[in-house]
Amino acid sequence: MAKPLSGQVCVVTGASRGIGKGIALQLSGAGATVYITARHREALEAAAAEVRARGGKCVPVVCDSSREEDVVALFERVRQEQAGRLDVLVNNAFSGVGSIVEGFGLPFWESSTALWDQINNAGLRGHYICTVYAARLMVPAGRGLVVTISSPGGLRYMFDVPYGIGKAACDRLAADCAVELRPFGVASVALWPGFVRTESLAQEVEHRTGPMMAKLKKMASMGETPEVSGKCVVSLASDPRVMRHSGKVLLNPDLARLYGFKDVDGREVFNYLSVRDILSELMPKLAGLFRLIPRFITIPKWALALYSSKFSVYPPIQPPQLKSKKQA
Ligand code: NAP
Repeated sequence: MAKPLSGQVCVVTGASRGIGKGIALQLSGAGATVYITARHREALEAAAAEVRARGGKCVPVVCDSSREEDVVALFERVRQEQAGRLDVLVNNAFSGVGSIVEGFGLPFWESSTALWDQINNAGLRGHYICTVYAARLMVPAGRGLVVTISSPGGLRYMFDVPYGIGKAACDRLAADCAVELRPFGVASVALWPGFVRTESLAQEVEHRTGPMMAKLKKMASMGETPEVSGKCVVSLASDPRVMRHSGKVLLNPDLARLYGFKDVDGREVFNYLSVRDILSELMPKLAGLFRLIPRFITIPKWALALYSSKFSVYPPIQPPQLKSKKQA
């Protein structure tokens, strides 16, 4: 049977591990040829070997998204090797996980200013540069899909200051690029995974203690596998009506419901907007009562829009327990 993405060409940045690798595995499983990037060759080759072991077609390219010359060379290589064809770009490269966990709770004025670049150099500026060079292949072809991996951290404060700014900007990057790409039949969306059990996150929280780490570990146990994001991208890339999504922020659990898939381990994709789970988290003593609320009842999107509004009617966010560097 023909696979849905047979003959398609995709680029996934930051795909040597985590969400990017999960996306590469699913795209190649759907028949696409996938170019994967990262800075470190060994891990990248190992990810490529994993894709090939499943029968997929994968081209590992060492490319630092924050270096424009690397990005130029990547897309030039795709142009030459694939006769100018590029169907999907996934902007995923991110170098901030370790710094976020390490510095959690430090106020921004006590953190190193390097945190900004660790989070936003590859994870925002790099996405913009990749989108520019991908669009130069997609626009003349009159088709294509750009998926920028973002996070609910773009709504309001989460983790630290550079993280929230970067994610809000990723959502806006997807939306504003969509405006200019629409007349050319190219779609651009932002994708919000839920909590994802990646190798990096597991490593970072494994040996740490404290209430926040306990919360992260609990979330990890309920979280989705990195391949859920891959299933989302495959569904979008296979959807002849993908332009209806262009410009929007899309949530993994919503796409799982819309396209009718489960996680690769057979579980339903955890819905982080489920009213039942949110209330149980806020009022654990009443969790038994909240179990009566069906899981599919979720916070409506208009409430999320209000929550993130610049003219918000919601009360100010309580800061996390900020610690001084001396206590860190
Ligand atoms: P991760 O496991 O740390 O993987 C990051 C990938 O990016 C690695 O392959 C890394 O390889 C690569 N990378 C880092 N810097 C790069 C650069 N300058 N150029 C090219 N590649 C680079 O991260 P992740 O957890 O999968 O996160 C990916 C994205 O998903 C992030 O935007 C994150 O905020 C978002 N997200 C994550 C979660 C979650 O629960 N994990 C939830 C929602 C959203 P090298 O180090 O070899 O370059």
